[in-house]
Amino acid sequence: RCNLLVYCTDLPPTSIIITFHNEARSTLLRTIRSVLNRTPMHLIQEIILVDDFSSDPDDCKLLIKLPKVKCVRNNERQGLVRSRIQGAGIAQGTTLTFLDSHCEVNRDWLQPLLHRVKEDYTRVVCPVIDIINLDTFNYIESASELRGGNPTYGLHVSWESIRVTEKATGLGIFSPVMTPIIAGGLFVIDKAWFDYLGKYDSEMDIWGGENFEMSFRVWMCGGSLEIIPCSRVGHVFRKKHPYIFPDGNTNTYIKNTKRTAEVWMDEYKQYYYAARPFALERPFGNIENRLSLRKNLQCESFQWYLKNVYPELSIPKDSLIQKGNIRQRQKCLETQKRKNQEIPNLKLSPCIKIKGEEAKSQVWAFTYTQQILQEELCLSVITFFPGAPVVLVLCKNGDDRQQWTKTGSRIEHMASHLCLDTDMFGEGTENGREFVVNPCESSLMSQHWDMVSS
Ligand code: UDP
Ligand code: MN
Repeated sequence: RCNLLVYCTDLPPTSIIITFHNEARSTLLRTIRSVLNRTPMHLIQEIILVDDFSSDPDDCKLLIKLPKVKCVRNNERQGLVRSRIQGAGIAQGTTLTFLDSHCEVNRDWLQPLLHRVKEDYTRVVCPVIDIINLDTFNYIESASELRGGNPTYGLHVSWESIRVTEKATGLGIFSPVMTPIIAGGLFVIDKAWFDYLGKYDSEMDIWGGENFEMSFRVWMCGGSLEIIPCSRVGHVFRKKHPYIFPDGNTNTYIKNTKRTAEVWMDEYKQYYYAARPFALERPFGNIENRLSLRKNLQCESFQWYLKNVYPELSIPKDSLIQKGNIRQRQKCLETQKRKNQEIPNLKLSPCIKIKGEEAKSQVWAFTYTQQILQEELCLSVITFFPGAPVVLVLCKNGDDRQQWTKTGSRIEHMASHLCLDTDMFGEGTENGREFVVNPCESSLMSQHWDMVSS
């Protein structure tokens, strides 16, 4: 049992860093109160709140009335990476403990984490993340034998797939579990080790991708990542980001993950691009500093990481990117933006070229994961019946409602075995029910498609 474990008695106090942007006062307070209630005071050097330019500056200012709490405020939105770097910069403890702003730490959460880092400063350690219910705010224990991992190259965390049950290690379920990737929000790291390893990639904006960057870097440059089952922290998992991305959610995510792939993934970055073909043309800033950091630290290759840390991550059979038009006679499948709607409509329109190049709205990629996508949106069928509409939804790894195969001139939907069809009665209707799936019929011209590579 966890409470039989013995920890060093002379653990050094840690600096707890919580960054936030427009966090609800109640959840922010719950995070801090739980830390103060459930942590031996001598283990807290300070609680550093970094207010990432929230609308109400008082959220942060009022909290310094609580013991140990300090507040710094950005006078411009920086995103979580630069906010965390800033918090770490003023930290006085020898270790840094990062938390999200909507957590509840559990009993004895900190000692096992600090203990592991004191034994070996190269370890970067995480608690098990329990779930705080989004509707009731109840604390729900999650299964304890977990480790992080994301078995695709798209560098997208999906919480369904990040949790891979670790087989019994023979060491008992209360032992630390090595993990190839951390969730990113909650962890303890030695401060000097954090600085030495290059902190974070400060060019990453707002949110996303930084956990992959940190995970690859820690492993490849001589450290390790582990989850400590006897340390538990609850976290509110939200369905949507409750804040704005000034450059757009997708652009930011692509920029951050593309930087990660370009700096750390060597020749394996081709699989990242194969999974996210539209990332190829995206700007991602300058990576010189991060490349020279990697060189100076003499970090291992990504191949080494795959072999030694993450052998379960299988290498895709091919990384071909097929991109081009999806044509029916002289017409092309295209997206049309709708007013005040994030998801565009699908239309069949005359194929157009602009300066010799296919119009962006008519270029599709067919990936090795068998998705047909444009930017981050995938052709999908939600419920299966003859005549069911084909819609665009955010791409999600391993969702067979988004998978298609090309057989001859037909495009077959994998999960339903129905074929992509045009519905002439639906043409021009407001809700765009122009594309449907129907029982496959090779004689039907409305099911005849050509993929024309660009
Ligand atoms: N955050 C921030 N600035 C931003 C975006 C996020 O300080 O521009 C904070 C956010 O308030 C939270 C942490 O970074 O404390 C992680 O963000 P979030 O909880 O939205 O990510 P998730 O847990 O959903 O991955
Ligand atoms: Mn969070």
